[in-house]
Formats: sequence, C-alpha cells, structure tokens
Amino acid sequence: MSGILAGKKGLIMGVANNRSIAFGIARAAHEAGAELAFTYQNEMMGKRVITLAGDLGSSITMPCDVAEEGAARSVIDTLSSHWDKLDFVVHALAFADKSALVGDYMDVSRDVFLESMLISAFSFTEIAQAARPMMQGGGAMVTLTYLGAQRITPNYNVMGVSKAALEASVRYLAVDLGGEGIRVNGLSAGPVKTLAGAAIGGARHVFRHSETHAPLGRNPDMDEVGRAGVYLVSDLSSGVTGEIHYSDGGYHHVGVPKDL
Ligand code: NAD
Repeated sequence: MSGILAGKKGLIMGVANNRSIAFGIARAAHEAGAELAFTYQNEMMGKRVITLAGDLGSSITMPCDVAEEGAARSVIDTLSSHWDKLDFVVHALAFADKSALVGDYMDVSRDVFLESMLISAFSFTEIAQAARPMMQGGGAMVTLTYLGAQRITPNYNVMGVSKAALEASVRYLAVDLGGEGIRVNGLSAGPVKTLAGAAIGGARHVFRHSETHAPLGRNPDMDEVGRAGVYLVSDLSSGVTGEIHYSDGGYHHVGVPKDL
C-alpha cells in the first residue's frame, strides 16, 4: 500500500474515536502516503479527534455538525485556506434517533425520519457540492453504507431507508461529477463494533449471524475496511464509479445460509 496515495490530500469526516470506521480508513490512507484533514461533530469529540489526527501527522481539524445548514461549505472554506486542492473525501457518518432503531420501521416519526435523512443521506450530497470546486483536477468521494440499504436487517429501520437514499445519491452524483473526473462510490461494510453500530437494536445478533454465515466465516476488521477505502479513493479504482463495494466477508451474496 505504501505510496499509493503519495501526494494526495484527503478530508476525513466521521471520526468519533479510534474504533470509528473513518479512523480505520484514515489510518490506512496515512500509511498509503496521504495527507489528511479531519472534521469532528462537536467540541466534546474535538479533543479526541485532534489527538488522533496528530497521530496521523495531521494538524487540520475542523468542527462540522452536518445537521447545521452551511456547515459543509464552511469546512471547505477553511480547508481551502490550507490546501489548494482536494483529492478525496471520506464521508463516514450517520445518525438516527435510538428510539427508531428498535421495533417496527413503520412507527418512525416525521421528525426522526427527516433528521436521519438529513444527517445520513443528504450530508453526502452537500459535501459533494461544497468540495467540487476544490477537486478540479479530479478526485474521489466515498461514503459508508450497509446492507440494510438493500435488504431488511432487524431494527435498522429508518437507517436502512436513509442508506438506500445515500446509495442512490452515489449513483446520481457519479453521473453529475463523472465528466470532471470525480468518482463517487459507496463502501458497504459488514458489522464492525463501533458506537454507531452499537446503537442499532440487537446489534450483537446481527454481528454473530453475519460472521457465522459470511463465506469468509467472519466479519471484516477495521484494517480491511480501511484498505477497501484506500482502494476506492486511490488510482487503483480509477475506472470505478457509482459502485457499491462490499467489504463484508461476502455476506451479502448469501441467500439461504448453509445448515451448519
Ligand atoms: P462511529 O460512531 O464511530 O461514527 C459515526 C460518526 O458519525 C461519528 O463520528 C459521529 O460524530 C458522526 N455523526 C453523527 N451525527 C453527525 C452530525 N450531525 N454531524 C457530523 N457528524 C455526525 O460509527 P461507525 O460505525 O464508524 O460509523 C461510520 C459510518 O459507517 C456510518 O455511516 C455507519 O452507518 C457506517 N457503517 C457502519 C457499520 C458498522 O457495523 N459499524 C457497518 C456499515 C456501515
């Protein structure tokens, strides 16, 4: 991997702690030679993110609560005072009120639905709009998604609907930006133990079921998801856009699992 991202500058959104998928991708991107900048959701997370960014040789950290109008644009404004170009963006953030991540999807309220769609789906389009002027030499955008966008998984509910919108956004953005050499892809990770992952009701059952029935017999680890992220933001995937790439041990291919 060494040198694959040498000379590339990337924005990482969604680090909460060292178990965050965003951090796994950041670490792999750093090892591949990228220069990185980070956003954090709020001041409480900021301290941790500043330290983690420092561990990866980055001193560019910016607050960005994507629920706030204009936050994505203000991040890019700040970033453009540090860098004259941006090669890639990793969007690894999502949110839905915990009350909707258990029980039936159809009980979701209007407010919870809108908040989930805004933070988990629209924010990717918003950062694409903002980042475009800094990516005039081409670039890559990646967002994190999950199988619950395509198929029903227990308690994923409004997050599954939001991820479906996010995956559709990947395809539309790929067309809108393709002519400018900007590629847009989704990375669909199998279950990883993170704060967001633990917020889904019955997360342990999904984690165990997936590792038991995945063709590889396990869920992906953070480094594997990180390297898949590097693939999607690097020239290794220069011919790939509008794609949902799975890093899930092959689980999404299984219809009826083997009788173990
Ligand atoms: P995580 O809790 O470490 O990261 C989630 C991030 O979302 C946090 O950094 C949080 O600050 C950020 N966030 C939430 N609301 C925000 C807002 N309003 N503004 C800015 N940031 C906000 O969990 P994670 O599992 O690393 O999640 C990263 C992404 O990966 C999410 O999109 C998640 O849906 C996706 N994903 C996770 C798994 C899994 O099993 N953990 C599997 C597939 C996809």
